[in-house]
Amino acid sequence: MSDMNDGNEVIQPPQFPFLAHTQPRPGQLEMIQDSIKALELGGYHLAAAPTGIGKTAASLAAALQVASQQPQRKTIFFLTSRQTQHRIVVDTVRKINQQREGMAPIRLVDMVGQAGMCVQEFAKESSVVFSLMCSQARKSRSCRPWITSAPGLKERILESPLHVDELVSLTRTHTVNGEVTQACPWKVAREAVNGADVFVGDYNHLFDEGVRDSSLKAMDLSLEDIIIVVDEAHNLPDRIRLTLEKRLTQTMIRNTFAELEEYVGTLQRSMNMPGGEMLAATHDLAYWAFRGHSHLKKEFCGLFQPSSLIT
Ligand code: SF4
Repeated sequence: MSDMNDGNEVIQPPQFPFLAHTQPRPGQLEMIQDSIKALELGGYHLAAAPTGIGKTAASLAAALQVASQQPQRKTIFFLTSRQTQHRIVVDTVRKINQQREGMAPIRLVDMVGQAGMCVQEFAKESSVVFSLMCSQARKSRSCRPWITSAPGLKERILESPLHVDELVSLTRTHTVNGEVTQACPWKVAREAVNGADVFVGDYNHLFDEGVRDSSLKAMDLSLEDIIIVVDEAHNLPDRIRLTLEKRLTQTMIRNTFAELEEYVGTLQRSMNMPGGEMLAATHDLAYWAFRGHSHLKKEFCGLFQPSSLIT
C-alpha cells in the first residue's frame, strides 16, 4: 500500500517485520503503532476493534517488534481463556515465520493445563482426582515420564511452532539413542518456555497467584522478562473473580464424597499393579479422609438447613 502527498512524493507505510500479513489490513496499522508506542513507554494498550481486522496478528506484530529492540531478552505471554484461540496464535506465528524466510524463526510454546497434556491413563479422571494423582505421582517419583529426561526434545519443540496436540504427539515419538523416550509433555513444555519468543497459555498462568509463582519459577522467568498480550480481556475480571472465589455448597460436599470414593478405588486398583506398593501411604490417607467425610457428611449438609443458617 502506498500514499501520495501534494508534491506527488510516494510515502511508504511503516514496515512491520513481524506482521503475518503481506499487507496490513485497515485498522491494523493504527493498532500496531499505538501498541508499539504504549509498550515502548512501559504502559499498556487497550484495543477494541471488530472481528476480522486481525487483532491477534497486530498484537503479535507490535509485541515482537518491541521485544526485538530490547537490550534484555523478552518473552511474549499470549494469554487467552479459549483453547480455540491457541490454534489461531500458532497459525499466525507460522505465517510470520513464512514471511521472514531466511531469518531466525519465532520460537513458540503452546500449553494447556496438566490434565490436557498428560500421557497417563488417569488423565481421564475428574479434575480433583487427576490433580491428586498427578501430584502424588510426582512427589513419589512413580510417574516415569516425570522423571525421564529426553535430551533434544526441548530443542525439537522450539524448532518450529507446534499446537499443543502436536507437542504432546512429539513427546510420544521422541527417540533417544534409537529408543522412544516418553517424557512428561507438560514439564518439558514449561521448561522450553525459557527459550521461546512466544508462550501461548491460559490466563491463570499469570493471573492466578499460585499458578503464576510456580509457572514462572519453572520457566525461569520473572514478570520483568515478559510482555503480556491478554486476548479478549473483557473476560479477565470474571475469570479473576472466579479464581479468587471460595464456595462451599451441598453439591460440592456430595461430590467430594463421590470423588474420594472414586479416588480410594483407583488407588486400590493401582496398588495391585507393579510398583503399586508405593501408593500404600497415600491410600491410607485417602481412606481415612473418605471415612471421616462419610461420618461428617450428614452434619455438613445439616448446616445448610434454614434452621442452621446464621443471620
Ligand atoms: S507428571 Fe506429567 S505425565 Fe505424570 S501424571 Fe503429571 S502431567 Fe501426567
